[in-house]
Amino acid sequence: MINKAVTGSSNITLLASGNPGKLKELQAALSDTGLVLQPQSDFAVPEADEDGLTFIENALKKARNAALHTGLPALADDSGLVVPALGGAPGIHSARFSGQGDAQNNIKLLHEMQRFERDDRKAWFVCVLVRVTSADDPTPVIAEGYWHGHIATVPSGASGFGYDPLFQISPSGQTAAELSPAEKQALSHRGQAVRTLRHKLER
Ligand code: IMP
Repeated sequence: MINKAVTGSSNITLLASGNPGKLKELQAALSDTGLVLQPQSDFAVPEADEDGLTFIENALKKARNAALHTGLPALADDSGLVVPALGGAPGIHSARFSGQGDAQNNIKLLHEMQRFERDDRKAWFVCVLVRVTSADDPTPVIAEGYWHGHIATVPSGASGFGYDPLFQISPSGQTAAELSPAEKQALSHRGQAVRTLRHKLER
């Protein structure tokens, strides 16, 4: 169950994800809080069934699953890209869009967007963070963030992760992958959700 070697700190919160991009961004955004985020991969937590219909349901499932298997407080991030022209896809299925990882997800997205002009290329990122103190926590803390932009016609930039090279923001026209980590955090869905979460946890 719990790997004692990594639970020495009482401030440890388990990150209910194995996504290194999320871990990096969340760690940076929480670095001054004293909270130590430990990825669930360190504890061999089995993946939760992400069979909810919403980001919130899936985030809650992931957080409860991580807390259940470790006995630690857990923070889950369920996030994704919503493209209205594609009926909301990839949405809650963003990580599994192509079934073959980030690079293929981006190729598939570009392909499916080929027929759309600028006005129909609107998209937004969603991030829902859920923090539970235990698997059966009756009062999970929930925070959301949204980031609006367009799907670019060619990928640009090398930072960030996932769909960042295709997510173009206004007014600069830069993609999320062309921003520094600090610039992304100031604007992004995840940055907004973390600020809301912190505000709620400080109450
Ligand atoms: P989840 O792990 O089920 O929440 O899936 C999240 C997926 O959404 C990631 O694998 C990415 O494909 C995408 N995603 C979420 N946040 C971001 C972001 O900040 N940049 C780029 N892609 C993101």
